[in-house]
Amino acid sequence: MQDTSLRALTARFRARFGAEPRLFSAPGRVNLIGEHTDYNDGFVLPMAIDSRTYVAAAARSDRRFRVHSEEMNELIDFDLDAPPHARRGLWGDYVEGTARSLDKRNMPVSGADLWIRSDIPPGAGLSSSAALEVAVGYALVRLRDPSEPDRRKLALAAQAAEHEYVGTLCGIMDQFIVALATRDHALSIDCRSLETRPIPLRLGSLRIVICDTTVRHALATSEYNARRAECQKGVTVLSRLDPNIRSLRDVSEELLNRGEPLLQRETFRRCRHVVREIERTVSAVSALESGNFNAFGELMRASHASLRDDYEVSCRELDVAVETAASVPGVFGARMTGGGFGGSAIALVEEASIPFLLERLELHSRKEFGIVPKFLTVSQPSNGVCEHALED
Ligand code: ADP
Ligand code: MG
Repeated sequence: MQDTSLRALTARFRARFGAEPRLFSAPGRVNLIGEHTDYNDGFVLPMAIDSRTYVAAAARSDRRFRVHSEEMNELIDFDLDAPPHARRGLWGDYVEGTARSLDKRNMPVSGADLWIRSDIPPGAGLSSSAALEVAVGYALVRLRDPSEPDRRKLALAAQAAEHEYVGTLCGIMDQFIVALATRDHALSIDCRSLETRPIPLRLGSLRIVICDTTVRHALATSEYNARRAECQKGVTVLSRLDPNIRSLRDVSEELLNRGEPLLQRETFRRCRHVVREIERTVSAVSALESGNFNAFGELMRASHASLRDDYEVSCRELDVAVETAASVPGVFGARMTGGGFGGSAIALVEEASIPFLLERLELHSRKEFGIVPKFLTVSQPSNGVCEHALED
C-alpha cells in the first residue's frame, strides 16, 4: 500500500475515533511446498507476500474495543470484562478471539479502537485470517508494552483464537509465517518441534505467480477431516511394524512399502503422499539454498501430481491451471497450494513469460469453466508483522 493511502487510513481513524493511531500490518502468505504435511508432524515451506492487512490502533483507558473493517464496512464492539460473545461465524470472532486469547495466555491487553484495511483477498488461500489475527494481536500487545513481543507466543495465541473462537482447527503454518517472516526469505517450519529456519530466496528474474481459481468446493472441510482420519489409520497400522511411529513423519518410504500389504489401497496412497511430500519439502529447502530452481520446479510438479493422484485433494480447475502453466515456456514448475478443492495454484516463472502465462491461464479457465481467475505476482518474500513509522 502506498504511503499516501496509509496516511488516508490514519486520517479516517482520527475522524472516526478522535485519537492519534499507530499503524501495524501483517502479510498474506503462500505455501511453496509441503501440503497436508503439517498435521502429520512434517515440514512446510511458506513465504510472506506483499499483500497485507493494516491495523490503525489507539489504546483506550478501559477494556472496551471498537473495531471497524473497511472490507466488511462494519463497526463491531466488545468488552473484555463482559462474557465473551457466543461464536457468531462473523469476522469479529477473529478479532475478539485474538484479544481474549492473548489475555488468557499471559500477554495482557488493554481496550483499543482499531481500524482495519486489507489488500489480501479473503478466502483465496492467502491466509487473510492469520494476517488479521496476527496484525491485531501485535498491535494490541505493542500498545500495552513498547518492547518487541515474543512472536512465537503471539502466533500460538492467534492459532488458539482460530481454534477456540472461530472453530477452524488450522495448523500452525499460517500464524507462524505471518508472525516470523523475514524479507527475502521463505520459512522452513518443522511442525513437530516448531523449530523454524529462514531460507534465503533470491528470485532474480524469476517470479511467483499466484492464480486464484476463485472456486471453493463445498467438499473442502469434510474431505480435509477424512484425510486426517486416513493418516491416523495409516499410523495405527504401521506402528505394528515399528512401535516408535507416532505420526507419518516417523515413516520412511521403505517402511511404508513393507506396510503396504497391511494397508487398504486408499490409505496406502494417502500415506505415500505425506511421506514423499515431507521428503520433497526437505529437498526443496536444499534446492533453494543452492539456487537450483530447476530442481525446485521439478519438486513442485511432483508435489502437484501426488496431491492430485495419491491424496486426491485437487480439482479440475486447479489441474487445468497447473497443466496450462506447465506448458508455457519459462515456467519452472507449478502446483496447487493450500488445502485443495479450489483456491489457488502457483507457478515459478521467468518474469518475461508472465504476460503469456496469464493470457493462457485466463483463456483456458474461461473456455473450460467460464471463470476468470485472479492473479497476483510476487517478486520477493515480504516481511512479517511490523509497526510502520508514519512521517507527517
Ligand atoms: P483465508 O485465511 O484463506 O483468507 P479464511 O476463511 O481462513 O480464508 O479467512 C477469511 C475470513 O477472515 C473472512 O471471511 C473474514 O471473516 C476474516 N477476514 C479476513 N480479512 C478481513 C478483513 N480485512 N476485515 C474483516 N474480516 C476479515
Ligand atoms: Mg485462513
